Parts: sequence; structure tokens; C-alpha cells
Amino acid sequence: MNTKTIFKIHWSESIWFFDIDDTLIDTAGNTLNASEGIKRVFSAKYTKDQSQLVQNNFNNIFELMLSGYRVKDEDDWRKVKGGKEVFNNLLNDIENSQIRIKEKYGVIKKWSREVFVKLAAEKAGLKVTPALVHEAVDAYWLILTEQTIAYPHALNLIQKIKARSRPIYLITSSDGRLKMDNEGQFDYDPQYSAALKRQRIELLREKGVIFNAVSIGDPEDKPHQDFFEKGLKIAENDLGSILDTSHVIIVGDSFGGDLQTPKEKMGFGLVVLFEKDRSNTEVVDEHQITTGILSEVANFLV
Ligand SMILES: [Mg+2]
Repeated sequence: MNTKTIFKIHWSESIWFFDIDDTLIDTAGNTLNASEGIKRVFSAKYTKDQSQLVQNNFNNIFELMLSGYRVKDEDDWRKVKGGKEVFNNLLNDIENSQIRIKEKYGVIKKWSREVFVKLAAEKAGLKVTPALVHEAVDAYWLILTEQTIAYPHALNLIQKIKARSRPIYLITSSDGRLKMDNEGQFDYDPQYSAALKRQRIELLREKGVIFNAVSIGDPEDKPHQDFFEKGLKIAENDLGSILDTSHVIIVGDSFGGDLQTPKEKMGFGLVVLFEKDRSNTEVVDEHQITTGILSEVANFLV
């Protein structure tokens, strides 16, 4: 039994927002398989060992980014291989490949697989062409999308929400689909990047993910408040009315990325932190629960 009280949200007023990657689907878990596509594309030009090395480097970069991204406090850095310094070095390398993007937008696309592939190849001692990088990343996303399965407990929650005829919005980071030039610098076209992500997300409907609309983080991305404001606006347009954020529930796998801004700056009624390896549900405070079983979130509404 939970003894802490939770802010009451009525089913009849509830509006649902979901992060997608690693909340509804196991994106990180599928990335290892998907990186086979990178190896396959590289092996047309390089030896088996070189291609394997690029794949391994790519997976290490992804893993480091993921563990760094999930850090909630200073203590958590001990769980990150190499710690904060190695993570910051990687972020530096990523940033140095996006000088024009940083100038134009003030921020970089941290999760761009195009940048990961370039860095992975450089680390393997290979100088790559833009065409090779783009082809490798296309292959990666294609495999990842084809193999995606939505978490059953997430689909169960979606079915409960739909049984109450309440709206669902997906709010997702940019995939950072960048274009490399011959010098290894990257450019960003928000419309191109968003269109590719939209294709990937639409395929989720076939996997049982029902939603009213999707908001994509191109160019404004999480955790900036504009990212969430854009999502609210898309929901308001869909519903034809102004939203009261205290009726809104948002579900994500990163407190800092998905939940902190809605909770602390925007008055969302409830934020739900999904932790894949957790087998229970815990009330953190009046406006937050942490769970490994998304279907249990339904029990907290009245
Ligand atoms: Mg996520």
C-alpha cells in the first residue's frame, strides 16, 4: 500500500502525454540489433574486422550517452563507465561536429546517429564519406523500426485510456537526422529530420500504439519548456480547447529530459517515471510516481 497521497486527476478530465523511445518501445534495447545495419553497410567498403570495430564503437558511444543521460544526481555518475569525464569528452566530440548547428540554433543534436557513426569510424581509424554515413544510419533506423515491439504493459495502459475515450499525445525528441559534409561537419534541417521521425512513429500504430497526434522535437527539443509548450499546443488544437495542465499526465523514462520541466515549471498534474527494471510502483510525492509497470498508473486516477 502506498501511504503517500497523490494529486487526484479525474479520468473524465485526463489528458495523456507519452515519451516514445524507451518508454513505449525498447529503443535502446533494439539499438544493438539495429547497429548490424551499420556493420553491413561498412562491410561493402571495409574489412570485416574494421566494420565490426565501427559497430562496436557505435554501440559503446550509444551506451555511454544513455547512461549519462539517465544520471539524476552526482552519485549516479559512479554507475557510468568512465564517469562524468569520459561522458563530457564524448559530448565535446559531438558538439565539435556540429559547429554550424550550435551557431544557428544555440544547441546541438546530442543523439544524432549520423554523428555517432562518424565518431565510431574515426575511432576505428577510418575516414568516411557523407554518403557512407547516411547509408549506414538509414540501415540502422530501418532495422530498428522493423524490429520495434511496444512494451505489453504500455499497450495495456493505452487500452485503459482508450476504454475511457481519453486523448493520447506522443511527445518525442528529435532523432537528429543530420547531414554530413566532406569536412565531417553536420547541418540540420528541422523539417527533414522531423519528417523522418514522423515516418518512424506512424509505424507504431501497426504495433498497437494508439495516439491522437505526435509532437516532435525539431527544432525545439527536451528539456526546454518550448518543447513541451509545442506539445500542449498540438493537443489544444486537436481538442479545440485550452488545456489545464493539472489534468495532464506525462510519462517518460528520464526525469531530467521528460518530466522535470512539466513537473516543476508547468504544473502538470502527474509525472510518471518509467524504469524498465523496476517491478513495482512507488509514489515519490504528490505529483510523481515511479514505476516499472505502466498499466498500474491507471490505478492512480479517480
Ligand atoms: Mg525516452
